[in-house]
Amino acid sequence: MQYFPMFFNINERPCVVVGGGEVAARKVSLLSRAGGKVTVVSPQLCESLQRRLADGEIQHKAKSYGSEDINDCVLVVAATDDAAVNRSISELAQQKNLPVNVVDQPELCTFVVPSLIDRSPVQVAVSTGGASPVLARLLRTRLETLIPASYGRLASLMDEFRDKVKAHFPDGDKRRRFWETVIQGPVAEMVYAGKEEAAREAMHEAVDEGVTSTPEFGEVYLVGAGPGDPDLLTFRALRLLQQAEVIIYDRLVSEEILDLARRDADLVYVGKERDKHTLPQEDINQMLVRIAKKGKRVLRLKGGDPFIFGRGGEEIETLMEEGIPFQVVPGITAAAGAASYAGIPLTHRDYAQSALFVTGHLKDGSMNLNWNALVQPNQTVIVYMGLLGVKSLCQKLIEHGMAPDKPIALVQQATTANQRVLIADLQTMPQRVDQEDIKPPTLIIVGDVVKLHEKLAWFEPQGVSSEGS
Ligand code: SAH
Repeated sequence: MQYFPMFFNINERPCVVVGGGEVAARKVSLLSRAGGKVTVVSPQLCESLQRRLADGEIQHKAKSYGSEDINDCVLVVAATDDAAVNRSISELAQQKNLPVNVVDQPELCTFVVPSLIDRSPVQVAVSTGGASPVLARLLRTRLETLIPASYGRLASLMDEFRDKVKAHFPDGDKRRRFWETVIQGPVAEMVYAGKEEAAREAMHEAVDEGVTSTPEFGEVYLVGAGPGDPDLLTFRALRLLQQAEVIIYDRLVSEEILDLARRDADLVYVGKERDKHTLPQEDINQMLVRIAKKGKRVLRLKGGDPFIFGRGGEEIETLMEEGIPFQVVPGITAAAGAASYAGIPLTHRDYAQSALFVTGHLKDGSMNLNWNALVQPNQTVIVYMGLLGVKSLCQKLIEHGMAPDKPIALVQQATTANQRVLIADLQTMPQRVDQEDIKPPTLIIVGDVVKLHEKLAWFEPQGVSSEGS
């Protein structure tokens, strides 16, 4: 082992940073976060250090470094661009047995600063002993995705209960098992979902009953899977995918995303192809209730975002009525995915100040839209579920006063390898659609922003670029 790992308490203790540039500023920021009282020695300060000084967070000695500057401190950082100065700081600090770090010069350091995943009070530090900071950062990124952002809140909650739990479980083994069930169970999930009070209550109950009783019901996670590219999942979606015992998904969810589920999870397909709903919505609602009542964690995975034309509202209404705990995890909606991957910003200072999301497909199969609202100027209209009705959409928009040469885009299977972008105008689109074999899911974008596609398209699915008219 090249270094001895440790976490150093510098709270309220004097630390000295020599150097006033951005590199110094980053070290100052870390030291301040850990509560250190930082003095910066440097004739000049960069902007962010000036801001800190103005906010009273640091002290400043506006001068060049001299040996007297590191007399009264517990730690020194040298971040000047003068190699000789850095070396002399290192030497003097070592004579005084002061821990010293010289930025980017491991041979002059007695300590290195690790890459940090900060979920205070939980901290994970990664070091390659200076061998490869890039590798350390990469590892850090991977770990960031594994550790929920609210881990710190969970740790704080556990800290609150430490004495109580100790009193209830004098036996070390039992206590450990208790904590394990807390960390992997519903209490932790409540904390991650931001239901801290409920988590605290559940903890009290669990300790009083002496066990983490399996709650009466399981839980439902209503999760947005995004438009297709698995990389667009949220961290939370991924974590819950790896946790749920049952996953209920529909047609819009890609195979690659299902591959991320826990290996032994039951995958239940509930379809939803146009006109042949494999399972009526009411049955899906009831299915969620039934499985959760068996004590299982059920993940209801939906394309895009669950609350945008996703019937998420209907599903949780039933859960609410039945008293089943649930949480909702947003996803990237098709409009956002299609816009980004097709290079069509939905708003733009020159073309559109607002964006309207509508569905072209109503419960009764008709397309009954507020056409006057749709034809307003400086607006982008995004139509979900509109492929079948695209011809009548174009016709109605023209009838209600939109210019026949208003650009319109069809984005097929956005963000996936099969993405295609078909661009035309209101007049020519009906004909174009007949010529092309467009496959669902498809999103329609109407408005002048569509013109930007030509300039801004960047995504090349399978290396095929998109087609214009
Ligand atoms: N909740 C989903 C929308 C469900 S409605 C979301 O937020 O995205 C289904 C419609 O979404 C489809 O008919 C299509 O218009 C659109 N859609 C979903 N995924 C899409 C994709 N990858 N590319 C284009 N359109 C998509």
